[in-house]
Amino acid sequence: MVKKTIQKKKKVVTKKKVEKKGKDQIKFIGQVTKIRQTEPRTVIEWPRTLTHVHTYGMLSPFFKGLREGKLMATRCPNKNCPENRLWIPPRAHCPDCHTEMTWKTLPNPVIGKIYSFTEVVYAGIGIELSTPYWQVDVELPGLATIPKSYLLYGKPYIGMKVKAEFRTKNPTNTVLDYCWVPYEQ
Ligand SMILES: [Zn+2]
Repeated sequence: MVKKTIQKKKKVVTKKKVEKKGKDQIKFIGQVTKIRQTEPRTVIEWPRTLTHVHTYGMLSPFFKGLREGKLMATRCPNKNCPENRLWIPPRAHCPDCHTEMTWKTLPNPVIGKIYSFTEVVYAGIGIELSTPYWQVDVELPGLATIPKSYLLYGKPYIGMKVKAEFRTKNPTNTVLDYCWVPYEQ
């Protein structure tokens, strides 16, 4: 008898290399926490910052205008609308008839009259102005609204003439980029 030797074919399994290091690996992208204490219980310091992403949407021209030293208002273009005066703060759509508003730049210098004022000693969160400051409501010709802002310097009185001032250098890109200064003729 001839002994047949069956040679078992060795199956060659090529193991797929799993890359342990490289692009595919998930990375920790944060900042590691600091342990403040371990006794009697563990307390960690977890640094966090909060960025509020906010869109100005259709009101973007107003803020672009402030950066360029222009005060821009909106007006309802609907001839049948009962309100055709200008709006500041601007509106994307007419509050009376819901038509999309059109833009108008007020001619410089923008001169207004103080309608009312108040001294702000404790400002709300987000109002990044040094206190105390004078918050002033200024009447402007042709406006349906009496916009609120602040007096950059001086002491206000009712009926006082003021001129718009713009923070075009290092703008905050917020409504704080315009304010009022006393205007004497
Ligand atoms: Zn309207």
